[in-house]
Amino acid sequence: MIKIGVLTSGGDAQGMNAAVRAVVRTGLAHGADVFAIHEGYQGMIDGGKRIQRMSWSDVGGILHQGGTIIGSARCMAFRERAGRLQAAYNLVLHGIDRLVVIGGDGSLTGANIMRQEWAGLLAELAEQGRISAENATKYEQLTIAGLVGSIDNDTAGTDMTIGADTALHRITAAIDAITSTAASHQRAFVVEVMGRHCGYLALMSTIAGGADWVLIPESPPDVDDWETTMCDVLRKGREIGRRDSIVVIAEGAIDRQGNHISADYVKQVLEKRLGEDTRVTILGHVQRGGSPSAFDRNMSTMTGAYAVEALLEDVNYGKAFLVGMSGNQITQKPLMECIERTHAVAAAIAARNFETAMDLRGSSFRESFGILRTLVRALPHDPPPGQKPLRLAVMNAGAPAPGMNMAVRTAVRLGVDKGHTMIGINHGFRGLVEGDFHEHGWMSVNGWMNMGGSNLGTNRTVPDGSDFYAIARNFEEHAIDGLLVIGGWSGYLAALELYKRRDVFPAFNIPIVLMPATIDNDLPGCELSVGADTALNSIMEAVDKIKQSAVASRRVFVVEVMGQYCGYLALMSALATGAERVYLPEEGVTLSDLEKDVRALQTGFRKGKRLGLIIRNESANVVYTTQFMAALFQEEGGGLYDVRTAILGHLQQGGDPTPFDRLQASRLAYRCINYLIEQAGSDEPQSAAVGIVGSKVRFTSMDDLPRLMDALHRRPKEQWWLRVRPIALIMSQPGPDATPVSVG
Ligand code: ADP
Repeated sequence: MIKIGVLTSGGDAQGMNAAVRAVVRTGLAHGADVFAIHEGYQGMIDGGKRIQRMSWSDVGGILHQGGTIIGSARCMAFRERAGRLQAAYNLVLHGIDRLVVIGGDGSLTGANIMRQEWAGLLAELAEQGRISAENATKYEQLTIAGLVGSIDNDTAGTDMTIGADTALHRITAAIDAITSTAASHQRAFVVEVMGRHCGYLALMSTIAGGADWVLIPESPPDVDDWETTMCDVLRKGREIGRRDSIVVIAEGAIDRQGNHISADYVKQVLEKRLGEDTRVTILGHVQRGGSPSAFDRNMSTMTGAYAVEALLEDVNYGKAFLVGMSGNQITQKPLMECIERTHAVAAAIAARNFETAMDLRGSSFRESFGILRTLVRALPHDPPPGQKPLRLAVMNAGAPAPGMNMAVRTAVRLGVDKGHTMIGINHGFRGLVEGDFHEHGWMSVNGWMNMGGSNLGTNRTVPDGSDFYAIARNFEEHAIDGLLVIGGWSGYLAALELYKRRDVFPAFNIPIVLMPATIDNDLPGCELSVGADTALNSIMEAVDKIKQSAVASRRVFVVEVMGQYCGYLALMSALATGAERVYLPEEGVTLSDLEKDVRALQTGFRKGKRLGLIIRNESANVVYTTQFMAALFQEEGGGLYDVRTAILGHLQQGGDPTPFDRLQASRLAYRCINYLIEQAGSDEPQSAAVGIVGSKVRFTSMDDLPRLMDALHRRPKEQWWLRVRPIALIMSQPGPDATPVSVG
């Protein structure tokens, strides 16, 4: 029997529980024993009760909890060989020679040191007679899978670390709240966020929260007298009507000379030079706390499951590797290589090689910093001499998606900054037909970053008949040089209709770029559309509450979620909430499925189960509706449980956009504006849809789009997220230890 140990170590991070749950359940599903090592390395050294075999239900109901249920600690003794010798003894005693270590770079470094010393440690233990020679041979290698648990997102080898997305949620919510009070009193605020060597949280929360200035360790202000530059920008901002000034500072912020910049120092500067009433808010441990976001739950689940499967493969025996994410792909990389790269950033900052530090952070970090530097300007740059000013139109189309406003804001500001005229089209394609065009300027989109819905207005209109003539006339009248459509399926269809008619209407011979914004995540050429993350979090929060409401009774919930013919929201919300069954339109529902589900519910509740949770996509089957399923389960339950439905409805389309949706909206809008400007200047302007594929921004030509679309089911022919299906099946199956399955 293979025995796997799992521990959480160093600073805690939201999502660690989901990772522990995935490790335990995947291990058990593959027939391994999994031991929780409580309190990090301290527990490994202490042994005894701190190393406990885990059952399927031991990790039930923990997905939504922040922190780590198996405890974390910092342990000085593990830094010494003697400590590691004792730890090795305890592992061998339990027969554990494979570890999943969930922690920051310190914890992962420690794990790797123990792995390197392993043979020597075992030889010494055998020599001392503490373990048998047979065991020294049997467990001759230690294999380590590392998952990075760190809210700072400071580790190379993964795009995101466990906890970083949730920390961004906390910070962005705080900045949103501070913005409204600051604006009321026209105050200045300095907000300090975590990140000793890493400006990720500071930079991304500044973009997402629409703050006015940021100070990060990797790229200190590039002038010595940065205080004057900062104050100039903030003063000009006030002059053009900004009612607040918010400076975000990473705790490790430094100037060009490497001197620490404190939040208090920034406060003094603002008070002295601008005469502004300035307050400091240090967010501190709030950033580590609370329930993990959907992204953190799902990433932790996916990487935790993968880590175990990799640990069980012979090719990985004796190795140390890091399991992370690149875009939506799970990656496995040599552990030490990732740690060395991580340390290289800190070393570059210490040596004041800021260019190197930024290079090591990667291109999207640098790009985000560049976007921010334009967005925070009080006023646009002067246009470059000799440049032809363009007239670029921006519109929303399809159902509202959180993040649409952020996309419009970024597009307008970046377009204006490059010297072009930005025209907003109100009310989607209807407005395009009716000529509802309005020019936007720098300040007309002020404050749009955190607003849900669509300020321009949006609907599902797809033009036909004489509409095309009217649109062509409006394009000519307003001399439109390029069009950005930010929207969903019907917006894509409508734009394709214009594109098809370029020969008939010369006015359509302009570059058109489509940006995916729909909660359904059903668009071709992109893996994640803007709005889907917000909807997923809204569903997850609602289901968390529904689960709580049912703890006192024996109840089954059938929760219906949106998505049209795409099961993305259903599957991902099932994964994030621990639903035991999910019905997807891609798979359909058959009578025998329902029969099997009824039997599973009966068996579970007979064994003492208290809550059943089933998630159903709204279009999973036209006949077996949510009401039908609920009635069937109730009738067949024979009094073992009762059944309730929850149709979540439009709460899924609303809400303030999550940080991820704001950032994605901003990044894609930036690329779209550049694309339009580039294409408008070419003799044969191209049109395309933008999207993130893997971890790269890609443009898919309009000519290729129809080929990628399943027109009948209104979804892409290829859907990457179906790969996650097997993990959801493992997580939700009844435990092999035959304990009653508690949901979660
Ligand atoms: P994090 O894992 O969040 O970076 P720390 O750096 O505090 O947090 O590391 C957590 C624990 O990992 C330490 O308390 C120690 O037990 C262990 N550890 C860290 N660095 C080393 C090292 N170089 N050698 C051995 N153990 C280490």
